[in-house]
Amino acid sequence: MRVLCFSPHPDDAEIFCGGTLAKYKAQGHEVAIAILTRGDVGSPTLSRDEIATIREQEARKSTGVIGAELFWMGYDDEFLYDSPEVRRHVIDVLRQFKPHIVLCPDKDQDYHPDHTRTGQLVWDTHVMAAVRLIETEHPPCSAIHEIWYYDPPGGIGFDVEHYVDISDYWDVKVKMAECHKSQDDWCRAMYEVGLSEIIEPQSRFRGYQCGCKYAEGFRKARMFPQQVRKDALLPSGFED
Ligand SMILES: [Zn+2]
Repeated sequence: MRVLCFSPHPDDAEIFCGGTLAKYKAQGHEVAIAILTRGDVGSPTLSRDEIATIREQEARKSTGVIGAELFWMGYDDEFLYDSPEVRRHVIDVLRQFKPHIVLCPDKDQDYHPDHTRTGQLVWDTHVMAAVRLIETEHPPCSAIHEIWYYDPPGGIGFDVEHYVDISDYWDVKVKMAECHKSQDDWCRAMYEVGLSEIIEPQSRFRGYQCGCKYAEGFRKARMFPQQVRKDALLPSGFED
């Protein structure tokens, strides 16, 4: 199975679903992270190009921790807009990786416009990826059947529909997040807390909600057509 995570900024995938991505990879699935913006405003001291270069290096180091593929899309941080160019780029990433499962921010429930726009772009293009007459560099792929929105920052206003127990992958998630050293500095300058102090309470709380040590929360996008499980009358709610 192929799992593709769209990350608005270079550290979002790790913060909100790094444990789930690590778990998929450990179970033998192919995993990729597509980062839409280059994170070029995330420094209190460096120039935009300087911090963007560092953030790409950090992202490559982090994806290397689990051996995930990286799509570095390179748009300007805080200025991600819906446009024909961006849509075609998102479609082309979908066509290149041909995911069975897509993870992205909730298009309706996140404080950050780059996050909601990423979710909206994925939502708006997922059907187009299979349409022949919409041309991009790569040929059309099969229809995208499954999109899951990941928890927003702080989990605010987000009704979790599915929890993934990441307790066994907590160390991997932390290791990936620690690759984003520049953002630990940025968080301390902006919010007076380190990156780990942002990540730990949310994963711990989601774990508390579902009865394990650490978890990540997701909500399924309402697709058409809905995918039907062939093996059950109703899903049990338990993972195999
Ligand atoms: Zn972000």
